[in-house]
Amino acid sequence: MSSPSAAAKAVIAATSRRDVAKPPADAATMPVTREMFDEWLVQCYAPALFIPVRGEGSRVWDQAGRMYIDFASGVAVTALGHCHPVLVAALEEQARKLWHVSNWLTNEPALRLAKRLIDATFAERVFFCNSGAEANEAALKLARRYAHDRHGVHKIRVIAAHNAFHGRTLFTVTAGGQEKYSQGFGPNPAGIVHLPYNDIAALEREFAEHGADICAVLLEPMQGEGGMVPGTPEYLQAARRLCTAHGALLILDEIQSGMGRTGALFSYMQKGVTPDILTSAKGLGGGFPVGAMLTTTEIASVFSVGVHGTTYGGNPLGCAVAGAVLDVVNTTEVLEGVKARHALFTEGLKAINVRRRVFADIRGEGVWIGCELDARWKGKAMDVVKAAGDAGLLVLVAGPDVVRFAPSLVISLDEILEGLARLETALNRALT
Ligand code: PLP
Repeated sequence: MSSPSAAAKAVIAATSRRDVAKPPADAATMPVTREMFDEWLVQCYAPALFIPVRGEGSRVWDQAGRMYIDFASGVAVTALGHCHPVLVAALEEQARKLWHVSNWLTNEPALRLAKRLIDATFAERVFFCNSGAEANEAALKLARRYAHDRHGVHKIRVIAAHNAFHGRTLFTVTAGGQEKYSQGFGPNPAGIVHLPYNDIAALEREFAEHGADICAVLLEPMQGEGGMVPGTPEYLQAARRLCTAHGALLILDEIQSGMGRTGALFSYMQKGVTPDILTSAKGLGGGFPVGAMLTTTEIASVFSVGVHGTTYGGNPLGCAVAGAVLDVVNTTEVLEGVKARHALFTEGLKAINVRRRVFADIRGEGVWIGCELDARWKGKAMDVVKAAGDAGLLVLVAGPDVVRFAPSLVISLDEILEGLARLETALNRALT
């Protein structure tokens, strides 16, 4: 190789300096308005008109300095509230050490997190990824590959539930039981069958007719996006029994229900059922994107080198933060606190309902509660979300008729009471 010219050397020296301090004047400080969203971003979301700029615990402030109580946590993501000091410390510490290595190398935070997840659950093996959809995609591929390798090419049938939500990749959107999300992208992956949720007889019929061809049953322990419908222990246990009897794998999607949200580290722990594969994301990173698929050594063995993967899976920053989330969440104190908050929330919601008569049902587990609107207010859940925003409260919908609450697991008493007061104001404004 000929030696570089003086000019090339100068360019290399200039661009390899690490003390270039001055970004372009407007790069990070450019004034931003909500209209820019409509102008520049793909319009697959319809965000609120205010833009949050700062969060602390269960409070969020927008550009105008207005404070919102957060009963949403993103969508059940910021499990420990915003900027939890333990998570900030973990992120900052890792940010000074190592941000990324490829999967041709491994890294300490990923291995430490894997060990913690294994110690805390049924699992013996962990696959890391970046989102819920990716975790479910991995789970479905693993189940198909396991059936293919152990039982033969015929065993491809995946049983899922109507109204389920499993993510937005083509496989997961097809496994989800809501046609509005899966239509218009075809051809969709074949072999996926939807049955009514919580219907044991339907599951039994399906297995009686097609058991030999079923490779997996994929279920949420409680349907979140599909209307906040808790799965009964009997239903989940029936799915377990049928899977075991027919050599199929039970996949539990704990992307929304997991990481303490229901008062157990994972919801399966209080439903008397152990899955073969479990998927986690959302609360796992407390706001930092990280997902995981947990399984046994025997099942994981069909994913040999090169069979599956992702560039960012096991990213050191994500795994360092998730390790800190797990350390905080997986304590009796925090999990019992979730149950205490459930009691307080439902009590407050019932009291509002005595005064306003707006809910037909108040249901859920832990800090994951859905209020189904009374028949008079059907279809108005989004109106409540908008009115809540105006009243300084962040809440969610779960379909057109259900207002959903998914606050931080450690939200304070004051914040719960203030949020419930704001909710009542919003209900008064929205439902007239
Ligand atoms: N599974 C469940 C139960 C979910 O609630 C979601 C998201 O709402 C997903 C999967 C998809 O997760 P992500 O949006 O991170 O891909």
